[in-house]
Amino acid sequence: MSQDNNVFSKIIAGEIPTEFVYEDDLCVAFNDINPQAPIHILIVPREPIASLDKARNKDQEMLGYLLLIAAEIAREQGFAENGYRIVINTNGDGGQTVFHLHVHLLGGRPFVFPPG
Ligand code: AMP
Repeated sequence: MSQDNNVFSKIIAGEIPTEFVYEDDLCVAFNDINPQAPIHILIVPREPIASLDKARNKDQEMLGYLLLIAAEIAREQGFAENGYRIVINTNGDGGQTVFHLHVHLLGGRPFVFPPG
């Protein structure tokens, strides 16, 4: 039995009811509960990787896949042309709070760089 009981694994397991804006065999996507922009979607692999820091060569295809799905969602939801921000917070200084790797897809407003 998996020792992984982070909030995203619970969402994927259906233990926390959550509406998916996208799902397939490899990942799910849902709205962030605390949105930082008019559009704030999380793309989460079904198979957990704790953080980008824990990703290895075997995860190469999945990492690319998550980015392509984020881009596809942005196109399908009609904000790709205006633009968007992709974020992968990693470990403490990176501001990561859920240790199940995920891609933030933020849109619907302009973003500044560098981020805070
Ligand atoms: P991070 O800080 O990069 O690890 O991002 C974790 C994100 O998960 C935060 O933006 C939270 O608002 C979001 N979050 C936490 N719990 C939930 C939940 N139950 N449903 C949707 N988003 C969540």
